[in-house]
Amino acid sequence: MKTSASFSYIIEKGFAIFTISTIRYVAFAGLAYLLLYVVFKNKWLHKRIQQKFPGKENIFYEIKYSMLNMVIFGITGMFTVWASHHSWTQIYSKIADYGTAYFIFSIVAMIFIHDTYFYWTHRFMHLKKVFPLVHKVHHHSLNPTPWAAFSFHPIEGFIEAGILPLIVFLFPVHPLAILIFLLFMTALNVMGHLGFEMYPKGFTKHAVLGINNTSTHHNMHHSLTNCNYGLYFNFWDKWMGTNHKRYHETFEKLASQNASLKPETVMKETVVLSE
Ligand SMILES: [Zn+2]
Ligand SMILES: [Zn+2]
Repeated sequence: MKTSASFSYIIEKGFAIFTISTIRYVAFAGLAYLLLYVVFKNKWLHKRIQQKFPGKENIFYEIKYSMLNMVIFGITGMFTVWASHHSWTQIYSKIADYGTAYFIFSIVAMIFIHDTYFYWTHRFMHLKKVFPLVHKVHHHSLNPTPWAAFSFHPIEGFIEAGILPLIVFLFPVHPLAILIFLLFMTALNVMGHLGFEMYPKGFTKHAVLGINNTSTHHNMHHSLTNCNYGLYFNFWDKWMGTNHKRYHETFEKLASQNASLKPETVMKETVVLSE
């Protein structure tokens, strides 16, 4: 492959990755926003984690920074494509090369590795000297909406996007497995920023379901800051003692609220998150 041809090919791929990332973000965040903040806003008011709805300017801020990160995902994607063309990555093209069982295993492995990567990079970004430079943009949303899913400072954007180059150097992955992983990542990231708790009561204490994080978990991270750092699972927060002491209690109160209560009563009953 000629250098000029490979350069235009990589730019083309970078643009395709930017486009796919944007469609994924707008589809998931847009659908969640449409359902919870427009169509069923009053019907599910009792599921609201923080009583107030954030202002339009906060939503614009979240979309502006999220879109900036779609560009960063495109740039990181270009690097991955370039490295893959030099056969430096372990991306493979035929599922049959490693089999279906390995294909499924690789998706699960990506999810668990990402969960660990996220927890520790997140802890790093909460260090006093790092926070104002890197992570403050994400915490601008004290009461996040689904649009906050990728609202990061560009430095954080590169840290977040860094999981993929890391994975493709670590073990063999098929592009379809990467796509499924990215769909899962986007869906769960939007779920964490819903602003509504949709899971049923008892969820966090359930032997199997309880390993998963909830929207309440990440919402408390936004409103209270130094707690609940995890992404998909609750393992690391549990092991490191970083779950907020009132996490389970807050979740239960929110999940137990009754849909039959009148809106005014709901507003009074809704848990206000504070220390
Ligand atoms: Zn944080
Ligand atoms: Zn967040």
